[in-house]
Amino acid sequence: MKKRWLVCTDCRSSFPFRYDGGMCDCGGALLVQYDLEHLKKESSRDVWRKRPSTLWRYHELLPVSDTNAIVSLGEGWTPLIRMSRWEKKLGLGRLWVKREDQNPTGSFKARGFSVALSLVRETPASKVAVNSNGNAASALAAYAARAGLQAFVFVPRDCPGMIVEESVAYGAHAYLVDGLIHHAGQVVEDGKGEMGWRDLGTAKEPGRVEGKKTMGLELAEQLGWKMPDVVVYPTGGGSGLIGIWKALLELKQLGWAEGDLPRFVAVQETGCTPVVDAVRTKADRLTPAGDNTTSKPTGVRVPNPPAGNLILSIIRETGGTAVAVTAEEMEKAAGQMGREGISASPEGSAVWAGLLRLHEQGEIRAGEQVALFNTAHSLKYLPWPTPKGVPIIRSYADYRSLI
Ligand SMILES: *Cc1c(COP(=O)(O)O)cnc(C)c1O
Repeated sequence: MKKRWLVCTDCRSSFPFRYDGGMCDCGGALLVQYDLEHLKKESSRDVWRKRPSTLWRYHELLPVSDTNAIVSLGEGWTPLIRMSRWEKKLGLGRLWVKREDQNPTGSFKARGFSVALSLVRETPASKVAVNSNGNAASALAAYAARAGLQAFVFVPRDCPGMIVEESVAYGAHAYLVDGLIHHAGQVVEDGKGEMGWRDLGTAKEPGRVEGKKTMGLELAEQLGWKMPDVVVYPTGGGSGLIGIWKALLELKQLGWAEGDLPRFVAVQETGCTPVVDAVRTKADRLTPAGDNTTSKPTGVRVPNPPAGNLILSIIRETGGTAVAVTAEEMEKAAGQMGREGISASPEGSAVWAGLLRLHEQGEIRAGEQVALFNTAHSLKYLPWPTPKGVPIIRSYADYRSLI
């Protein structure tokens, strides 16, 4: 039996491992810890090399204990593409884009749900739910279908229609919420007791971060077990950034990757910048951005990230920063990535625009190695009518009145 336990990211209390949903009593998010000293003695990174090219090659650092419970659609082991022309232009040592658009359902969200639903299958739960700006909804829907579970997804009504359509195609019960992602989260919160939904929202359980962690494990393996100098990531709820940081920290603690942790840079879009604002004012706690956001409905439009304080401490401790980019900069960036043959989602474009901004501000030094993440495929965001028959609700009471 794999030795693992849970630690609260806020109060630091630790608990025996359990997967019954929920956060720490103090309100903090829970992360999984492993017995790394034992793993270091018993194994080595070389065992991973011969394994299948999915994220499950790293199962020693994943919380699932019953391998028969694994729910997989071939997620992970995405290509890492070198951007040689831009390296020269910007004077960088190496510039990489990790193509998370190549995952099942076209975004990195697949990683989190592959692990989370494998954990759900070790429990008696049969209904799973998320609030999402789109990609988490369709990834949950696909993996729930694969696992034989019922999915309930709640997305703001202005989210990309094609992604809502995709969720419906995987058999999810989909609802459009007249509000933002945290309003959609409130519907899940209010309904989960009565409806028996397992809440798989960001930071509401520890499995998704573990799945997203494999982006960092792969990055290190693809770089020959060396750390890059800088990681630039589009930050909404923050679990992607937290996952990559956790991966590299675990590898460092194992002595399985060389170098110091990279500087972590969070990129957000102007109009919804709670992380950027907190970094700029050197606050150690995050203040929610409020409901008057003017940014587009993408993965980075999250006014109140539930694990915000952890995001800030990662940025601070690694000497990173946070940058806000405009919709115009993102559009230009999408064109620049497109001309390198990369289908950049708005979030991936934000990262590219963020890189250019860091370069302009002298925050990336000549010769450095930089890793960017294109978190989804651009085609998911093409203009598309919202599918007919998906109800629009404002609250759980509305939902209740419909069923
Ligand atoms: C969800 C999402 C993000 C933001 O990720 P977090 O882990 O919530 O910070 C970025 N890009 C895309 C495409 C997403 O779907």
